[in-house]
Amino acid sequence: MNKIAFIGAGNMNAAIIAGLVKGGFNPKHIIVSNPSAAKRQALQSLHGILQTQSNDEAVAFADAVVLGVKPHLISDVCQQLGQQAELKGKCFISVAAGCTIKQIEQALAQPCTVIRTMANTPAQLGVGVTGIFANPLMSAAEKNFTESLMQSVGIVKWLESEQQIDQITAISGSGPAYFFLFMEAMEKQARAFGFNEQDSREIVQQTAFGAAKMVIENKTSIGTLRENVTSKGGTTQAAISAFSEGGLEQLVSTAMNSALARAKEMA
Ligand code: NAP
Repeated sequence: MNKIAFIGAGNMNAAIIAGLVKGGFNPKHIIVSNPSAAKRQALQSLHGILQTQSNDEAVAFADAVVLGVKPHLISDVCQQLGQQAELKGKCFISVAAGCTIKQIEQALAQPCTVIRTMANTPAQLGVGVTGIFANPLMSAAEKNFTESLMQSVGIVKWLESEQQIDQITAISGSGPAYFFLFMEAMEKQARAFGFNEQDSREIVQQTAFGAAKMVIENKTSIGTLRENVTSKGGTTQAAISAFSEGGLEQLVSTAMNSALARAKEMA
């Protein structure tokens, strides 16, 4: 896998391109296609990559193709590629949420490796989580390439089935918003205690960052970390008891199952 084409110059593809170039991938082996000139030209100026208006030209240049358009456009884009170009030996890596491997295979209408990835928004900062599943045509080289491609924007988890894409969507795909909701509620209460807007935000964000850093840097389980900061009869225990009595754990399970059910409906 030497050359890579990005179809779409939007947020997700821009993040992956930035990660790849930062990691040392030759920018002259990267091409991006996008209908409007401004976005693709901006990526060219920023990273020294190649750019074109034509998806066909981009695909002809590369052996790996990242499909980074909005989900409702994936079928049309793939159909046009399949009709106009020889795709033999090319590997298609989709980042589109909710588009199945079968939909992409049918639209391409040529036997190709199709790899489905499910990244999340923090990928834009290089700290994402990406779940990956591929059709049986994937070679070892394509697997390694896709893994390092998505590692340029965070961590990667290979999935055992395509159904697990829906599950990881309910965990990490939607997950950042779960934490935002919790932080938002804490920020509101800080304001209610009388802290000003800036202090409320900074106190909450640093608390979340510190907690995440402790989880990442400690080998102990998350449950043990919680127990370690929950002294018997103390303030933290008073709050944790209130969460338990309010059914927080069950609520999280219900919420994640709702996300899973919606992901299945949308696929
Ligand atoms: P985005 O910023 O809107 O980017 C989509 C890009 O596709 C736009 O630059 C658009 O160009 C371009 N485009 C439209 N039609 C095209 C065509 N026919 N050929 C080539 N390019 C075309 O969207 P995004 O947030 O990057 O999302 C892209 C994909 O990533 C989606 O499928 C989404 O599900 C997935 N994803 C995104 C995130 C995220 O955090 N953003 C997370 C997980 C998954 P114009 O603007 O010029 O029309």
